[in-house]
Amino acid sequence: MRLAKERLTDPVDRQFDIAVIGAGMVGTSSAAWLQRSGHKVALIDRTGPGMGTSFGNAGVLATYGNVPINSPTLPRRLPGLLFSRESPLRINWAHVPRMMPWLVQFLRNCAPARVEAISAALASLMEHAEDGAFPLFRASGADKLIHSRGCLYLYESEASFAKAQDEMALRRKHGVNVDILEPEEIGQLEPNLAKVYAKGAFYPDGHQYVSPSGAVETIAGHFASNGGTVIEAEVAAITKLPDGTLELTTSGAPVRCKQLVLAAGAFSKRLFGTLVEPLPLETERGFHVVYPGFETMLNRPVGWSPGAFYLTPMSHGLRAAGTVELGGLSDAKRQGNIDHITRHARKLLPDLPETPESTWVGHRPTMPDSLPVIGRSSRTPEIILAFGHQHVGMTLGGITGRLVAQIADGEQPLVDLTPFSPDRF
Ligand SMILES: Cc1cc2nc3c(=O)[nH]c(=O)nc-3n(C[C@H](O)[C@H](O)[C@H](O)COP(=O)(O)OP(=O)(O)OC[C@H]3O[C@@H](n4cnc5c(N)ncnc54)[C@H](O)[C@@H]3O)c2cc1C
Repeated sequence: MRLAKERLTDPVDRQFDIAVIGAGMVGTSSAAWLQRSGHKVALIDRTGPGMGTSFGNAGVLATYGNVPINSPTLPRRLPGLLFSRESPLRINWAHVPRMMPWLVQFLRNCAPARVEAISAALASLMEHAEDGAFPLFRASGADKLIHSRGCLYLYESEASFAKAQDEMALRRKHGVNVDILEPEEIGQLEPNLAKVYAKGAFYPDGHQYVSPSGAVETIAGHFASNGGTVIEAEVAAITKLPDGTLELTTSGAPVRCKQLVLAAGAFSKRLFGTLVEPLPLETERGFHVVYPGFETMLNRPVGWSPGAFYLTPMSHGLRAAGTVELGGLSDAKRQGNIDHITRHARKLLPDLPETPESTWVGHRPTMPDSLPVIGRSSRTPEIILAFGHQHVGMTLGGITGRLVAQIADGEQPLVDLTPFSPDRF
């Protein structure tokens, strides 16, 4: 992909209507939608488009993903989840003191009425997920990297399926289509899976990325070929100049803009400085392992309830991605999570090798109410905040970008943004 890096040596080209920090699915979609509404836009990333958390996720465009991880049953299940070797949730205890305020708010958001409200708010975004992402996929050619064969989620026992009924009810309440499958029907859809499942939920309207980073890069490439500027640099600080312009100090030349979109995912907090109000952004670290050559074993993403991950056939191999570690912004790969994924992946597909070819860790950006922040900063209205998409940023990145452009233009947004306001904390 040819990016317009060379233009950055010219100082005139370092002044933009709008700069976007972070070229994940959220920031890249924002840049593309802003360009569509006629702005001169810079998209800035320290590693290039699609190389952060938008690289290594499970690639599910989960239009059915309106159920938050906050759950009324979680507070009582939490001790068991944290101390069991079989658990997909782990915690770095050294990080607990720093994340305590977030944890307290997270648990408050597990109250039944809050979960209902969060689910309704997520559903209001999910309803427009395709309207936000597919125009960008089609215009850029990234639609070739999207498959629409539905998604399957498997339960190992009747008991675990029964426990999922409240979540299923929340999905149905918001119009999600789901077919409940018996083992024979699962076997017909995915004949290579070992028969370790008791029940399945098939979401016919789910899509998948066959290369999540490839799709983001393709959208960024299209943005660049339409005159957008992609800058590979780390932003160190944001300053407001006396004339109201924002100046970004970067590892390269400074960048100036009239408006700024902060979409640096889990790392956005490092750039709040004094211009952005303190917001409780934490991270849920997640992991993946890849088995090249095994992608033909599945036809679609398959979620596995006891493993808390998806097995997704991708262009470069079969990827197993998921689990959670509450462990801050560290890059260290936690072997416990990786072993957990590997062990469960081989239960579903026993022919997979004992050792995957590659492993990865990434950082889901998560607010304590599992809702993204989408809106203008109250401290500095020239800064539009767009982060906190937790487990569903590949699903909601496109619609978030579209909403960001509507905010920048002062238009009536497609979705009521009240639940996503930065002022809610
Ligand atoms: C294991 C796992 C599985 C997942 N599966 C799914 C799934 O199936 N479906 C789904 O919808 N979501 C999934 N997610 C969640 C999804 O990946 C994230 O919500 C999404 O990628 C977040 O996108 P983003 O653009 O906000 O952040 P990112 O993709 O992390 O992008 C932020 C960018 O900001 C850049 N950046 C940070 N700081 C700076 C700085 N100071 N200067 C310049 N650049 C900076 C980074 O380099 C990065 O590229 C999964 C996540 C994980 C970890």
